[in-house]
Amino acid sequence: MYTIACEAHFDAAHFLLGHPGKCSNIHGHRWRIRAYFGSESLIEDGGSKGMVMDFGEIKPALNRIADEFDHKLIVERDTLRSSTLLMLEEESFELKDVDFRPTAENFAKYIFDRLKDDGLDPSKVRVYESDDAYAEYSE
Ligand SMILES: [Zn+2]
Repeated sequence: MYTIACEAHFDAAHFLLGHPGKCSNIHGHRWRIRAYFGSESLIEDGGSKGMVMDFGEIKPALNRIADEFDHKLIVERDTLRSSTLLMLEEESFELKDVDFRPTAENFAKYIFDRLKDDGLDPSKVRVYESDDAYAEYSE
């Protein structure tokens, strides 16, 4: 079994409404997202001969996802008052709203699904919230 992995990252803030600890407050992470692709065999001919797949097919999709979140405040929908949202927008802060609680676990599934939507077939997605903490999703 061969496995390749490709990584991208973004810097973004988030908070977890109702978390009993520090995570309920706005704080930032360098989120590292790593997608894995596995295959029993390698491509046998053409320009990608000897590869599971060309990294060049993965990187643009991963970078597109990272760019959507980079330097933004990630907000789970309906967790901030509309007056707060309005105030942040008036200050020109960029928000990225998501329909899931923005944990590393949920990000891993979200990114896995996005890559599938792009026609890719990851075996696993890992999301690092810090150098020593990550979550993974696979089917
Ligand atoms: Zn956090």
